[in-house]
Amino acid sequence: MKALLALPLLLTVPHLSSDAGPPPDGEATALLEKAEGRAAAGKYREAQRLYRKLAKEFPDAPEGRVGERRGRPSAFLGAADIVRHGDSENRVDVVLMGEGYQLKEMKAFAKLADDLPDYFRRNRTLGEYFSYFNFIRADLVSADNGVDGFGREYDTALGGHILGTYAGHVGVNGGEVRQMLDELPDHDGQAIVFAKLGVLGSGGGGIATIGGRNMKTTLHEFGHSFGRLSDEYSSETHKRGPTKANVNVTNDPDPERAPWKHFIDAKVPGVDMYQGADGRARGAWRPTANGCIMGAGEFYCPVCREQFIKLIYSVVDPIDRASPPPHGGRTTEEVVLEGKELVFEVTAMQPANHMLSAQWWVFPEADAPKPKIGSKGYGPYDKRRQKAKREPGRLMPIDAKPAQKSKGKRDGEHEFKLKRSSVEPGRYRVICRVTDPVQLRGSRHPWVLKDDRGLLQSEVGWWVRVEEE
Ligand SMILES: [Zn+2]
Repeated sequence: MKALLALPLLLTVPHLSSDAGPPPDGEATALLEKAEGRAAAGKYREAQRLYRKLAKEFPDAPEGRVGERRGRPSAFLGAADIVRHGDSENRVDVVLMGEGYQLKEMKAFAKLADDLPDYFRRNRTLGEYFSYFNFIRADLVSADNGVDGFGREYDTALGGHILGTYAGHVGVNGGEVRQMLDELPDHDGQAIVFAKLGVLGSGGGGIATIGGRNMKTTLHEFGHSFGRLSDEYSSETHKRGPTKANVNVTNDPDPERAPWKHFIDAKVPGVDMYQGADGRARGAWRPTANGCIMGAGEFYCPVCREQFIKLIYSVVDPIDRASPPPHGGRTTEEVVLEGKELVFEVTAMQPANHMLSAQWWVFPEADAPKPKIGSKGYGPYDKRRQKAKREPGRLMPIDAKPAQKSKGKRDGEHEFKLKRSSVEPGRYRVICRVTDPVQLRGSRHPWVLKDDRGLLQSEVGWWVRVEEE
């Protein structure tokens, strides 16, 4: 992350103002920048002191209010990238937060946060899509290092407390987590919180909370928070309401009505109906015997894996970049083919062990396919405005044979050359569609069997005018 400033002012500062003198808020801006710089360098105590100074000297400026907030005994001090694979606009940003870490303990949290991405990378499902994630550390200071419960209250960054489970699982205050997320210039509502003194964990609504630092617990809670998955274990942790059908759990023993029926129909090994899930031994069914980390296993089962991949693609567009800049379906913009050829390039996302495929078409203007179902136009650039809830809609099927199919190079680059000699003068639509087949070597079935929302595919198009020679 380049800058953590919530305020746009920073962009205006440099050399322009030498004659007029610095803008009135220049000093406050500089102070805010300095405080953030100190936090980013791990000088948390100094950052805290500068935020407090900012609040005191500029109480009425927007920066002063930031200083007031960040100068509190429990507060957000700054953030830093741990792993950045790309622009936040087309990655899942996962923000790591510490709860109950006092100033002198924040270095220990930074170390813990540094270790986390490697657990994602080593997980088979998340590791395959590792490059689709960014990991960002938010530095939160807590005045105390306790967990609320049994009548005791502590002053901590996220209101960590003991939940009413038999084992006293740790939870945090979701509203406070979201306030901390909003200190960042961009986020996807996804936080993983490590509570220093809590036990076990809890997850949901974009927030995974882990007591201590157990990485298996982290992946389980991330299954709740990001994957929106249910528990596949059968032991009772607390009194729960009736089981609700979800992607990976159902209250109905009939395989014909199972949410994972498409896996049973495809005869994916190991997937069937197993009783015992959602924290109860009876009346709830899970898809695998013991193979899922949402139960007692080590990995996400095939059903949970499909869900993860679809959710990743609900944030990340399979097409990362395209050149020249693509044109919407209804526009007068165009590129002109005057010389020998025009080169179109698409950079697809690049999973670890398999590749996305691309198909290219060239249509005369009159035959250009209609915009996709349920959307007004073409192109990932429309979708990215709705980041975190990418709803591309299925693409209209194209019956015509593609002019070119490409598997792409190792870096996800796909190229198409439109040659002057292959087309008559006129206006054309060049279309590129990219799909993730999720077909891994050694796996008989694709990892995603059903994609009703068309999340795993994307399209860009260009209008091309071919001139007379
Ligand atoms: Zn599962």
